[in-house]
Amino acid sequence: RSVNVPLGNRSYNILIDRNLLKSLGSECSKLGLGQRCAIISDSNVAPKFAKTALASLKKAGFDPVLITFPAGESSKSLKSVQSCYDQLAKHRLERKSFIVALGGGVVGDLAGFVAATYLRGIAFVQVPTTLLSQVDSSVGGKVGVNLKAGKNLVGAFYQPRLVLCDLDTLNTLPLREYRSGLAEVIKYGIIYDAPMFADLERNMPKLLKRDINALASVIARSCEIKADVVGQDETESGLRAILNFGHTIGHGLEAISGYGKYLHGEAISIGQVAAAELSAQVLGLPREDVDRIRKLFKRSGLPIKVKLNAGQMKRLFAAMMLDKKVSSGEIKFVLAEKIGRVAFGQKVSMDLIPPVLKTLS
Ligand code: NAD
Ligand code: ZN
Repeated sequence: RSVNVPLGNRSYNILIDRNLLKSLGSECSKLGLGQRCAIISDSNVAPKFAKTALASLKKAGFDPVLITFPAGESSKSLKSVQSCYDQLAKHRLERKSFIVALGGGVVGDLAGFVAATYLRGIAFVQVPTTLLSQVDSSVGGKVGVNLKAGKNLVGAFYQPRLVLCDLDTLNTLPLREYRSGLAEVIKYGIIYDAPMFADLERNMPKLLKRDINALASVIARSCEIKADVVGQDETESGLRAILNFGHTIGHGLEAISGYGKYLHGEAISIGQVAAAELSAQVLGLPREDVDRIRKLFKRSGLPIKVKLNAGQMKRLFAAMMLDKKVSSGEIKFVLAEKIGRVAFGQKVSMDLIPPVLKTLS
């Protein structure tokens, strides 16, 4: 399957299939790039997949070098960026060379930022290996790294030339990481596609078993939705904000728990249930829809409960105010009118949030 991201002369394809890693070299051959390239990966992914990726590139006539970092969010740093620059220069990558990001969102965001800035920008190809990165972070061109002061504070909009989603790579993903990706998949149903949401309700048991056909269609549909949204609003001046459904409270929960307790998908699972409850109060989202949303996250094995004491609630508010523009006690939310339809920029009084979070305790 193939999904196009429509961005004029920067348009690109997302290929979704089994066994794609073996075609990495031949697919890159079609892009008209130079011979030298670098694969950037991490310490979990490289031992599993780098050999196949390197062999495929070599077979197609490329001259690849492998650069790896310790797995984990802490590698998404300026220190890693510096280390990449040094290695790229050492291997004499030049303007026509390219970078392949082989890994999850951490690798994709880091490698993409390096590609955006090395020699003022060289081509890059995304080979996402987590469900989260296949349906979300590898598509859309947001790249960047973290600072001590916060996540994703340095970055760019820089689109890849190609995205290869090899479904087979998901087999080795730990269950918790896999479920975390499902939180973004469910998000697409809520914000954009009621029939997709209903399909997810029907097919969740298959998806949890990583059934290949169920996965392929869900990943393709997720990428189509993201491509459609990004095609209309690449730099988030409006519509793209709908992709942040559940993320205001989600990011807040990640921040106050020191990014250790929750995976991203777990935090936005709670965040989306909270946003659904808020939507019921502010936009009249039917009770029945709120219950369907709660139930689907629960059936995916994602958390839908949270219990905050007064101190934690205070820190959550502080984190949310840093994350989003707040004026006179109001914060802007993406809220749902019904499953499949959301509105962004909805002003919500901060006073509504503690009682809503109480319904999740
Ligand atoms: P990740 O890259 O840390 O991967 C999660 C874990 O799974 C890591 O330990 C990794 O080594 C391991 N792993 C990856 N692929 C594997 C495989 N096939 N088999 C076994 N283990 C594997 O995390 P993630 O959830 O993919 O991405 C999270 C990051 O993505 C965050 O930094 C977040 O900010 C970023 N993000 C970016 C965007 C965007 O638009 N750019 C969107 C969402 C999230
Ligand atoms: Zn997200």
